[in-house]
Amino acid sequence: MGDIIKLLPDHVANQIAAGEVVQRPASVVKELMENAIDAGALSIKLIVKDGGKVLIQVVDDGAGMSDTDARLSFERHATSKIKCAEDLFNLSTKGFRGEALASIAAIAHVELQTKPSNTEFGTHIKIEGSKVTAQEVIVTSKGTSIAVKNLFFNIPARRNFLKSNSVELRHITDEFHRVALAHPSIHFYFYNNGSELFNLPQSNYRQRIVNIFGSRTNEKLVPVEEETQVVKISGYIGKPEFAKKSRGEQYFFVNNRFIKSPYLHHAVVAAFEGLIKSDNHPGYFLYLEVDPASIDINIHPTKTEIKFDDEHTLYALLRSAVKHSLGQFNVAPALDFDQNLNLETPYAFKNREAELPKVVVDSGFNPFKEEIQRGFKNSYQKESTKGWESMYVGLESKVGREDSFSSVSFESDSITGSIFEGTHEVMETNTTTFQLRRKYIVTTIISGMVVIDQSRAHQRVLYEKFLKNITIKEAVSQQLLFPLSLSFSSSDMVIIEEIKESLATIGFGFGKVDREVLEITGVPLLVAESEVGMVLDQLISDYQQDITGDSFSQTDILSKTLCKTLAVKTGEILDRNSQLALVNDLFACKESKSSPFNKTIYITITENDIDKKFI
Ligand code: ADP
Ligand code: MG
Repeated sequence: MGDIIKLLPDHVANQIAAGEVVQRPASVVKELMENAIDAGALSIKLIVKDGGKVLIQVVDDGAGMSDTDARLSFERHATSKIKCAEDLFNLSTKGFRGEALASIAAIAHVELQTKPSNTEFGTHIKIEGSKVTAQEVIVTSKGTSIAVKNLFFNIPARRNFLKSNSVELRHITDEFHRVALAHPSIHFYFYNNGSELFNLPQSNYRQRIVNIFGSRTNEKLVPVEEETQVVKISGYIGKPEFAKKSRGEQYFFVNNRFIKSPYLHHAVVAAFEGLIKSDNHPGYFLYLEVDPASIDINIHPTKTEIKFDDEHTLYALLRSAVKHSLGQFNVAPALDFDQNLNLETPYAFKNREAELPKVVVDSGFNPFKEEIQRGFKNSYQKESTKGWESMYVGLESKVGREDSFSSVSFESDSITGSIFEGTHEVMETNTTTFQLRRKYIVTTIISGMVVIDQSRAHQRVLYEKFLKNITIKEAVSQQLLFPLSLSFSSSDMVIIEEIKESLATIGFGFGKVDREVLEITGVPLLVAESEVGMVLDQLISDYQQDITGDSFSQTDILSKTLCKTLAVKTGEILDRNSQLALVNDLFACKESKSSPFNKTIYITITENDIDKKFI
């Protein structure tokens, strides 16, 4: 048998390596921006078209390259950043593998223009699928511009695997945030399809965070400062009351490199223990400086994980630094969930600006009689039950109409009847309800009793109302006399633009849209003016994450967010009328057994069940 092993040609090896280094346009963005930083740039421009599929370009004013270096930079393992193995243990640059440009050039059309400060002319190189197609001398200013076009042009499978432009843009934006947050002394620009998304002038860390995430961020930040032999910790944590349901802004930087570390994350979360609810996530921007020799960043080609020599010490230091800040800035005490069960509501309003006195609009003038605030009042009428019939207009055939009455798992029909027939009398005279631990509504039925989770029940009621409003496409908007101006970060604005139409179908009205400021002229009937900011924040973050995962449309995500945000919470006291209304509204729902998030809404305990306990 002859020899069969062959060395792979370079371009094939590069393509294989590219699979590791370049997963999507955002990976290219990261590599190019890091190269610009390593080159000592003071200003870096990122230009992107169509989610990076058509163009990713990074222009810097850094050191530039000589013509030989320009050519060499596309060779595999060609790097100016390390010379020997020892250098690996003392890295101060982002790059060191010499793989990125070679990989990118193997799977895209790349154009490089570069000039160092000590030469008169610069170099222009075109390279496609690892083949240099042109090289010429050009007149250009100091620095480097690399344009990457038609990513994955020669790997259709990869190209098809890419997500929509807006999803890819979001990944790019994440990457941009990470790099920009780590280097506030560099001026960053970010253009998407010709329009400026970010313009971040040279600043300090705090200003950089605020410039990226919007001016409202400023009041949320608490500084963290700690210096020991092992590590210098600086940065900011978000005040506990701004903790979010979704993992929002959580950033660790080690020696100005963004990293992911579940272990250190845990240290921060541990410091917040007792200050935020367990399903909320604190925000943080923490910068750690350690001796480069004490870390190993060589674990992963895309380099977001690193290994520390002494993780345990780091954990303890980080935790205590964060705790210390929480205490020092008076955020820690005063908060006691047991004593103040209504904390949730005030939280949401704390950061809102003081409200101007409002003109009270006649709430009696309401074309949707049954839709009064929070859906409580008026809902006693049996007629509201009929209203639900129209909810699934057009959906009827698909949804497979399950009769909600018979699906209620009461023991016998007559029991169901006692709740649903002649609602009026039952409510006012016979039905007893009471609230258990500000969490459950307990009500009697003939065969025993029903225990209803108040929050889930209200979510269901509101969810179906929103869906109905969307389906019948009626304007359920209340016009604001004075438009509200809310500020958002530019990346939030991108999302708002994406979901604006759906927002309009649920009753939001928009006026002028500025860079950071959104003018709101109308809000959905069920949303109070003071809640708008909070609701939009939640919508943006849910939409970003599609928290539900199984949402079938934007409107579904929106309805879910709204019902989750607006529903009464565990801990809220409901008066008797509200309890009754909620019970009735719930059982008038299409699907009263489970919440929009598939959680059980109520359980029944029959007399039989109780009897058994007494045997
Ligand atoms: P690495 O960054 O790991 O060294 P790259 O493939 O990203 O590998 O880059 C190869 C080399 O090209 C770098 O070491 C650097 O010398 C040079 N280079 C790349 N981008 C730039 C840039 N924007 N300005 C100056 N030199 C650059
Ligand atoms: Mg590099």
